[in-house]
Amino acid sequence: MPAIQDLFAHNRAWAAEMERTRPGFFSALQKQQKPKFMWIGCSDSRVPANQITGLEPGEVFVHRNVANVVVHSDLNALSAIQFAVEMLKVEHIMVVGHYGCGGVLAALDGVRVGLADNWIRHIQDVRDRHRGLLENMAPEKRADALVDLNVIEQVVNVCVSTVMVDAWAKGQKVTIHGWAFGVHDGLLQDLHMTVSSTDSIEPAYRAAVQGVIAVRS
Ligand SMILES: [Zn+2]
Repeated sequence: MPAIQDLFAHNRAWAAEMERTRPGFFSALQKQQKPKFMWIGCSDSRVPANQITGLEPGEVFVHRNVANVVVHSDLNALSAIQFAVEMLKVEHIMVVGHYGCGGVLAALDGVRVGLADNWIRHIQDVRDRHRGLLENMAPEKRADALVDLNVIEQVVNVCVSTVMVDAWAKGQKVTIHGWAFGVHDGLLQDLHMTVSSTDSIEPAYRAAVQGVIAVRS
């Protein structure tokens, strides 16, 4: 385990190595930020957006919170999405959940963890919306299914945000994706909740939920 003072040593070594292997890397980075991708993921330390996707600094704009939730009134997430869409002109936004997510597990089991219960309540809303589907599943499959369903619902929340409604109305090309990451194998799964217009939210949603039933039943 690194100590806190090691972080600066690691940082200096990393910066020197980058400059040695890619001269001019930082001066180019300083001039512009033009990522094509926005990642909305969980704060979990095991799910670092750049490493998983092989993207470099400057290539992915990241917003993370507990259990990758997009709440309609969360100014933090909405401001990040607005900046990504209107200023950076990202072409893809992926909402990325992960299996074994502590926030999702707490929501599923109704575990009280304190203040965060109020945040996790959003995932319990997802659980309750799909209660019948989850109850028809083997108990050991419910946690992974709720990770998938949470991603699908949060993709909808991105899609119905004023930012996306306005962007699509103007004809801007932005596609929203729903993915899930396996901490156990390091692999990303596409949940096929892929939306690139307001009209395609509903059919994509129905197909993606059917996909969860097919995979988890
Ligand atoms: Zn998590």
